[in-house]
Amino acid sequence: MSDSLHIVCPHCAAVNRIPSARLGEGPKCGKCHRPLFAGHPIELDAAGFEKHVGRNDIPVLVDFWAPWCGPCKMMAPHFMQAAAQLEPQVRLVKVDTEAEQSLGARFGIRSIPTLALFRGGRELARQAGAMGAADIVRWARSQL
Ligand code: ZN
Repeated sequence: MSDSLHIVCPHCAAVNRIPSARLGEGPKCGKCHRPLFAGHPIELDAAGFEKHVGRNDIPVLVDFWAPWCGPCKMMAPHFMQAAAQLEPQVRLVKVDTEAEQSLGARFGIRSIPTLALFRGGRELARQAGAMGAADIVRWARSQL
């Protein structure tokens, strides 16, 4: 791990540079001064996805979901709990594949929910099907 990490602000999308030793000390955004980690997933549109997946130095775990999908709704509170456990080592984000169909198509998402883990803009792993919080955390950590 390098001495500093680029972290994209979930509020204003500014790219912050944080010493890696201080990642767990509740870092705040240099631009909007809000916490860089709030313990819950961020909803992203296509532009936000590019920024977070492309610019974050920490891995980004994406939940591809849709409002009409029952299992997705069941998994939502588990994904929220997983965020509280995986931050600040991993950034958790959600992509509504109904609203952002181009992203779903680009990544060939055929069933939802699908979790996909990215690092440095590259997909490391994906897993389809709803999971509980403990399984999400375990799966994400096992891929890193
Ligand atoms: Zn900010």
